[in-house]
Amino acid sequence: MSNAIEQKLHEILGDRLLTDVDDRISYGFDGSFGQYIPDYVVQVISAEEVQAVVRVADEFVIPVTPRGAATSLSGGPLPVAGGIVMDFSQWNHYLEIFPDDLLIKVSPGVRTGDIHKLADDYNLMYPPDPSSSSVCTIGGNLAENAGGPRGVKYGVTKDYVLGLQVVTADGSIIHTGGQTVKNVTGYDLTKLLVGSEGTLGIITEATLRLIPKPLDTMTAMIVYDDLYTAGKSISTILTSGVRPSKMEILDQNAINKVEDYAGLDLPREAAAVLLVEVDGDTEALKKEMEVIRSALKKIGVTGVNIAGDKEEEAKLWQVRKLVSPAIVSSGYTKISEDATVPLSKIPDMFKKIDEIKEKYHLNIVVFGHAGDGNLHPTINTNMRDAEEVSRVEDAVEEIFNYAIELGGTLSGEHGIGTMKRAFLEKEVGQAGLEFQKAVKKALDPKNILNPGKIFPNPGEKRLVLNNDTAP
Ligand SMILES: Cc1cc2nc3c(=O)[nH]c(=O)nc-3n(C[C@H](O)[C@H](O)[C@H](O)COP(=O)(O)OP(=O)(O)OC[C@H]3O[C@@H](n4cnc5c(N)ncnc54)[C@H](O)[C@@H]3O)c2cc1C
Repeated sequence: MSNAIEQKLHEILGDRLLTDVDDRISYGFDGSFGQYIPDYVVQVISAEEVQAVVRVADEFVIPVTPRGAATSLSGGPLPVAGGIVMDFSQWNHYLEIFPDDLLIKVSPGVRTGDIHKLADDYNLMYPPDPSSSSVCTIGGNLAENAGGPRGVKYGVTKDYVLGLQVVTADGSIIHTGGQTVKNVTGYDLTKLLVGSEGTLGIITEATLRLIPKPLDTMTAMIVYDDLYTAGKSISTILTSGVRPSKMEILDQNAINKVEDYAGLDLPREAAAVLLVEVDGDTEALKKEMEVIRSALKKIGVTGVNIAGDKEEEAKLWQVRKLVSPAIVSSGYTKISEDATVPLSKIPDMFKKIDEIKEKYHLNIVVFGHAGDGNLHPTINTNMRDAEEVSRVEDAVEEIFNYAIELGGTLSGEHGIGTMKRAFLEKEVGQAGLEFQKAVKKALDPKNILNPGKIFPNPGEKRLVLNNDTAP
């Protein structure tokens, strides 16, 4: 053993402590940017192991960076300050459903898709559905407060968390919330910890709320000649008296990327398409689609194509699922943003992104959870082209600034991590930033839990994409 830290970690984990450089390098990435090599990787499989590792980190004052499946698009699991990467992906075996209580208990490494499948077996539903659900972990979803297409009707991860087991920065194990929908005992620490990006505590178990599975679904694809009207349709549909369960938008660039990738007979000439799903009783769904159709007609939109059967419906959702793979396969590096704006401002945001695309000569694809105002302007770029990367950094900053100006937010679901920390103060103000820092300091005084995330480094005012520290 090379040192006391390694010796202690080895006593806790045995061969689930990884110290070889190749292993450590492979834990230095996520779905965003930058490579950082941790000093140790620990593959934990119990709360007691998490607790023991955190106590070592506390004793030697070294960082602990939790990591689920590393699909984060904001830099959350990157070990920017070295130290220990705590890998949860092996701790995926505790998944127990309590159907009569409409709840499910999980260990942090369980994949979100496995929760969906188990709930479905009991005719129940766990609504949060990030598009990465076949690979991402529930621990990562909890830490990022992940959303997804169903957010427009059912909300996001935080709306389905009844209770948590958490290891705190000093290595204590605490429980927040419980197993009941109603619980107002003390501060709502569950809400504080969900979305805290692993900076305030490490989640070792969660109790999640389920709802009855809707009886049926129906989906329409609406085709637009101009982006502005597509944006305007969103508020029109949401004020028509119907509440869609999903509402996703793809701009022309996104449509064409998917078409190039999969050849699904999509309308290449369209400025945008909107995918709208309604769920509930089969007969009611037909009426709801008619309400949507007539509301859209009033603003001159007529291209409402309703899927005739389940196969056609699945094909429409396949279109949305393929956007990310299509973008990845079409260029070098993919930068996914998730600036979110009030619904009435979506047309303005589209217009601005178009202007930014022209101004910086960039390949920007826009798609996203339209019903939440949560757009994903996604840029294809070549990280080896320093001049282009600098234009990308400027473009991203302009997108963020405009989202804030419109009364929106830097992040609807991906989190702040390293990617957006330079802009946090712009949104929350100096006093707001200090208040958030005070919470962090109170709960993690030695700054060992996922340091370098959420809060800007001193003097940091700009996004820098090329920040690799790996050899
Ligand atoms: C193709 C693609 C599609 C995506 N679609 C969506 C989408 O629709 N909606 C959405 O919200 N996101 C989406 N994402 C982003 C990403 O999948 C989510 O942020 C997801 O929640 C990350 O889960 P993960 O298991 O990969 O966590 P990681 O990326 O490993 O970590 C994410 C954060 O969680 C922390 N963390 C992990 N486990 C724990 C734990 N047990 N305790 C405390 N902190 C922990 C990490 O430190 C990090 O800060 C997408 C990503 C990709 C690549």
